[in-house]
Amino acid sequence: MEIISGKELAASLKQKMMAEVATFPQRYGRVPQLTVILIGNDPGSVSYVAGKAKASEEVGIDNKTIRLSDKTTEDELLALIYQLNNDDSVDGILVQLPLPKAINSDKIIAAISREKDVDGFHPLNVAALWQKQPCILPCTPKGIIKMLKSKNIEIAGKNAVVVGRSNIVGLPVSKLLLNENATVTVCHSRTPNLKEVCLRADILVVAIGRPRQITGDMVKEGAVVIDVGVNRDPETGKLCGDCDFASCAEKAAFITPVPGGVGPMTICCLMENTIECFLNKMCDLSC
Ligand code: NDP
Repeated sequence: MEIISGKELAASLKQKMMAEVATFPQRYGRVPQLTVILIGNDPGSVSYVAGKAKASEEVGIDNKTIRLSDKTTEDELLALIYQLNNDDSVDGILVQLPLPKAINSDKIIAAISREKDVDGFHPLNVAALWQKQPCILPCTPKGIIKMLKSKNIEIAGKNAVVVGRSNIVGLPVSKLLLNENATVTVCHSRTPNLKEVCLRADILVVAIGRPRQITGDMVKEGAVVIDVGVNRDPETGKLCGDCDFASCAEKAAFITPVPGGVGPMTICCLMENTIECFLNKMCDLSC
């Protein structure tokens, strides 16, 4: 069994990005700018936003975090987004999810300029993904494909099972796997015989948000297991995935750890997307 370390892969990709970004001031007069909006004090969100700021600093991307109170109204947030959309010095806008219940996330995501949508969640970017058109890809699914490719894992012709069908992970990763010519099955909370379906997977991607839900007896011998989940272990309070690492690792040929697996690659791909938005803009200006 081999561990796919997202931490190591992300570190090497960030080195390359750092070298590339260092050339930007001379070529384009400035570095990319990422603005992150954080509403409220949810500890998970605060820590994710801090991770994004740290990665930006490492790569040389200018990062600004705007912190707003959880009393912020939808109109106030929309006004800020329109202002950032029109600010030429801003290349990427990210609104940290989840948002307070009083704010409609779909409306906020759709308000972000498609060209600055570094998360790849804008409806036009989603549509482009499903039509195989050029677009900003959502970070977590993009990172998962990079992890598979980094180990030269064959995707074409393989049975891929994705557990979870969210807009941010399950659905887009299933489409990316399909684009790579896997035969894809998407499971969810209403899937009967989940174990039976998982046992058919050559590549098993799990994104359900339930600690240790997938156990070794649900994994085919020699499968690749990608664990997207980030949970608190109810017993130890430590971070853990959606897969029971010890028992799944006994069956898997490759497995991602939690922490240190998909998470660092998500942030790495956010950096890539910010650079992509910046370069798209520079190209538009010079073309
Ligand atoms: P959501 O809650 O949006 O979606 C969960 C999905 O899992 C739903 O489709 C749900 O089915 C399905 N599901 C829930 N329970 C079961 C079950 N027992 N059996 C089968 N399917 C089930 O979660 P997200 O996709 O946003 O996130 C999933 C996990 O990944 C979380 O732990 C989150 O923290 C983590 N995450 C990690 C990231 C990273 O970078 N490492 C990035 C994003 C998320 P249904 O649709 O029927 O309700």
